[in-house]
Amino acid sequence: MVHTCVVVRCKHRKTAGSGISFYRFPTDEERRQKWINAIKCEPGWMPNDGSRLCSAHFISGKQSRNPLSPDYVPSVFPDTTSPDKKRKRTALERFEKREALKLRRRENAAKETAAQALMTLQTEALEKVQMEQDLQEEAAETLLSLQVHQPSMSCQSAQQASTSTSSPSDTVSAASIELKCRRLLEENHHLKETVEHLSLSENSFKDDDKAMKCWQTEVSTFMIQ
Ligand SMILES: [Zn+2]
Repeated sequence: MVHTCVVVRCKHRKTAGSGISFYRFPTDEERRQKWINAIKCEPGWMPNDGSRLCSAHFISGKQSRNPLSPDYVPSVFPDTTSPDKKRKRTALERFEKREALKLRRRENAAKETAAQALMTLQTEALEKVQMEQDLQEEAAETLLSLQVHQPSMSCQSAQQASTSTSSPSDTVSAASIELKCRRLLEENHHLKETVEHLSLSENSFKDDDKAMKCWQTEVSTFMIQ
């Protein structure tokens, strides 16, 4: 089927290689009415299913579906003057620049949002790693404290542990326990000596002849009484 343009005095026909597109009238009632008003047909004229409008009536050479675009509605006709066509082209260029600027702003905003989301993820990941390190350090300190203060482990078992295990950490722990046990034994021995000196007995004066004589003659008699 050969399409013809509904615009009066437009000679365009749909032929191969012409580079001209033929559009149906919009189904959107508001836009459809704007097209009808723009082509200035006879009063009461209404397009039918076969009615076509050629692309030569749009400034850019093709229709736009953006309501803000000058090419949303046809505006170039056989009676359009050259200065008028120039003004329409300038208006279209300004529109396209505004659209490009809006597009760049949207892209920059999207990049900024993505960057902020990435930074948030990185911060959360670092906080999680730090938290795990803190927990590990706390667990290690708690374990070491429990090993050092293990009341059920005797000095002998600690010594066995220090000599029989092969793990470096076990050896260090057992050595710590053994050292503590030795210190406790030394303190115990020292306390025993102190108590022995303070005890009032014959043995307390075995190295002191005068004291021993006094103990044997006076103090023991007193204690017997
Ligand atoms: Zn036409």
